[in-house]
Amino acid sequence: MNSRRDFVKKVGMMAMAASAPGFAAGMATAVVSCDSKTEPDPDPEPDPTPAEYLPDWREGYLDIHHIATGQGDCTFIICPDGTTMLVDAGDVGGNYGASGTPSVPDESKTPGEWIADYVNHFSKDLPVPGTLDYAWITHFHTDHIGNPNTAKAGTNGYKLGGITMVGEHVAIKKIIDRGWPDYSFPSRAAIEGESGGFWKDYYAFLNYRKDHQGTEIEKFATGSNAQFVLKHKAAQYGDFSVRNIYANGILWTGTGANAKTLYTASDVSDENMHSCVIKMSYGSFSYFAGGDLSGYNHPNYASKKREIEVPVGQVAGKVTVLKANHHGTYDSTQPDFLRSLTPQTIVITVCHVLHPDAGPLSRMVDPLVYEGDRTIYTTRYTDGHKSKLGAAGNVIKPAGHIIVRVYAGGAKYRMFVLDSETTDYPVIYQTDEINVNE
Ligand SMILES: [Zn+2]
Repeated sequence: MNSRRDFVKKVGMMAMAASAPGFAAGMATAVVSCDSKTEPDPDPEPDPTPAEYLPDWREGYLDIHHIATGQGDCTFIICPDGTTMLVDAGDVGGNYGASGTPSVPDESKTPGEWIADYVNHFSKDLPVPGTLDYAWITHFHTDHIGNPNTAKAGTNGYKLGGITMVGEHVAIKKIIDRGWPDYSFPSRAAIEGESGGFWKDYYAFLNYRKDHQGTEIEKFATGSNAQFVLKHKAAQYGDFSVRNIYANGILWTGTGANAKTLYTASDVSDENMHSCVIKMSYGSFSYFAGGDLSGYNHPNYASKKREIEVPVGQVAGKVTVLKANHHGTYDSTQPDFLRSLTPQTIVITVCHVLHPDAGPLSRMVDPLVYEGDRTIYTTRYTDGHKSKLGAAGNVIKPAGHIIVRVYAGGAKYRMFVLDSETTDYPVIYQTDEINVNE
């Protein structure tokens, strides 16, 4: 399989190299031979279309991989100098029942194991293969860290699922979350309760790694642009930065590293609204990721003070790519939030049939909310989505692993979708180069 893969990869790359800008998908099929003297076969076997693969990462590229497992959030980011970051590694473990999306590629491995395979595959040519410089946990729900019910037994005092399973197969140098070391916001009991009971495994995992494997653990530093930094050639890529915008009711003011309080622990009882938020910038390109940040006081939720998106969006400002908050669920993606960000591309990570819900999807595409073209991607799209969204879902591009590849300097990027049903990651959809919205 490897030699075939190398062959088709070369064909794909030759075709891409020969293509003018603005011409992308399907070029590999143009490489054919023809002998006019040969009688046509009356019943020809169609030639298989050669598979095409994501061209290898090169220094200067910022690659943002939204990994599809069907069971939760996970984003793997390769920064321009090869510094690596994983954002969440969920495993909801079937907690959503029939409303959940099936696992991909299949159930022969757990989501954490599939994530580790993915990271090892796409990091093999990096300065330090199979290693995460940062693992960043946005908040403590099962679809972002793992769950105890389907986790496997471990030998170090904690179960293996989600991020703790990833740690079995991939080296992790630093872990950053919203609670270390005391987990007091709003209280340790609230965090453990909302985690489905997995927080205690996660906490044991952190302590084991700190004590036995040298992993550094840090609390998310709201307002800072110096916590997520490049590890190899920071001086060469001064136009790359990550700003920590929000967590735990504390919002960056937009000035220096200053922050202000939106709410206190006594105001709230919901984990999503505490999610850590970042804005990653590379030249004129920028990317917003905010975990399961909530937008308003939807009647399905009892908690107060859920209107977090709009003030966060005002501080974040315009972005090129938005990873939709809370998977595009009904309490997210408010119009005024979208008006602040005006994203050109929106990526929705999916583990439930309401990811996205019809309301947020309609706001994302509504030209009255903000002007300009925008394109929507989801990591999974099932028959359940088709029946829930109907024709409105036709705006969504083919589902799979969603890759944002930003080219050197950050003025252009291209979107790739990789097949999540197989383990050699062929490209099933790609765009032309896109000029960053300014
Ligand atoms: Zn979530």
